[in-house]
Amino acid sequence: MLKPIRETDVAVVGGGPTGLAAAIAARLAGLEVTVVERSLPPIDKPCGEGIMPDGVAILERLGVDIPAAEAVPFTGIEFVQGALRARGEFPGRPGLGVRRTALHAALQRRAEQLQIELLWGREVRGLHDLGLELTRGLIRSRFVVGADGLESKLRRALGLDVAPIYRRFGIRRHFEVRPWNDHVEVHFATGCEAYVTPVGGDRVCIAVLIHDPRLRYDDALELFPDLARRIEHARAVDDPEGSSTVYRRTPRITRGRVALIGDAAGSVDAITGAGVTLGLHQAVSLASALRTGDLSSYEADYRRLMRIPGGMTSIMLAANRRPGLRTMALRTLATAPWVLSQLLGLHTRAFPFSFHAHDTLPGPPMDGWIPPGRDRPGRADSPTA
Ligand SMILES: Cc1cc2nc3c(=O)[nH]c(=O)nc-3n(C[C@H](O)[C@H](O)[C@H](O)COP(=O)(O)OP(=O)(O)OC[C@H]3O[C@@H](n4cnc5c(N)ncnc54)[C@H](O)[C@@H]3O)c2cc1C
Repeated sequence: MLKPIRETDVAVVGGGPTGLAAAIAARLAGLEVTVVERSLPPIDKPCGEGIMPDGVAILERLGVDIPAAEAVPFTGIEFVQGALRARGEFPGRPGLGVRRTALHAALQRRAEQLQIELLWGREVRGLHDLGLELTRGLIRSRFVVGADGLESKLRRALGLDVAPIYRRFGIRRHFEVRPWNDHVEVHFATGCEAYVTPVGGDRVCIAVLIHDPRLRYDDALELFPDLARRIEHARAVDDPEGSSTVYRRTPRITRGRVALIGDAAGSVDAITGAGVTLGLHQAVSLASALRTGDLSSYEADYRRLMRIPGGMTSIMLAANRRPGLRTMALRTLATAPWVLSQLLGLHTRAFPFSFHAHDTLPGPPMDGWIPPGRDRPGRADSPTA
């Protein structure tokens, strides 16, 4: 019989950005938290490395401090197709380009500061009636959070797995070059996109999104001659690293006292640049639900949080399949950039009418909007209040 090695309120499977953010938010809501992660920190992963403005606001709210030297603000998005350029501005604060390892290290520092128990290099084998089963031992917990990524085993164990609506592949590489644009550049070619995020004073991250996983990074870059020329003399500082990017909508993300979060809960295509930010919104909502002991508010918030990035994924993938339509849309956006700025405002939840999840964390709300969870009746009867 397995012996409990720990007892905690919340056991989190996966110490990627979403698992750590969920742990920090739950800890700020007054709960004891243990995170189990099979890799050792700081964890890297192929990613475009852009955090949207609303994600940056949540990181601040969670007390996650990314040193200024490790992050580069970007003030909007610029779409590029040949000579056609459409440039939109974020209506509020900028987003941040930040190396994945720097983001992970900042989250780890904050988790340690809050005395969250972090079990690195430990693999979760599965769910147990009392909590989580590890390769050696058991964690007894009131709640389990599955933040175990795109191919989540927990999602499968809960019987909540569904096939992706769409799957393609992303490869990223870093180049030593001074960023030439204070916007994230999204370049379009037939059936393929590349996007450039500034991640340091002398560094950019270029991710390409493709359908055929056999296509080599350099061959994919050649589909974007302007971009290839830009980095012609830049030194590549690492090897290309690839991963699937999946659009998946999961019908449910909670079962009993287990909740899924981040890519484990469902995901949007990488072209939206919204994966990490979506996970951060979910972390805030989930902490509120865990605090009250009722996961139903999280289930409802999740569905609403997914609407805009899900819609954006559908639009971007449709544009990918119909280049003629995309060219028409880009021409319109190029002559009316305010339309793109408004769309970016929607995407980054910058408007007063934007949907924000339940938020009962202590401290000031984000960016001037009033979190709906604060005023709702029934929130005060939390077991930890
Ligand atoms: C090419 C590409 C570009 C992207 N660009 C962007 C972008 O610009 N901006 C953005 O916001 N998003 C982007 N994304 C999406 C983003 O990377 C993901 O949404 C994000 O990583 C999800 O974080 P997560 O914590 O949910 O999952 P992950 O980062 O996958 O973390 C899951 C963790 O769980 C651990 N784990 C799994 N199973 C177990 C187990 N049994 N026991 C213990 N630990 C376990 C893993 O080791 C891993 O560390 C991009 C994705 C790709 C592929």
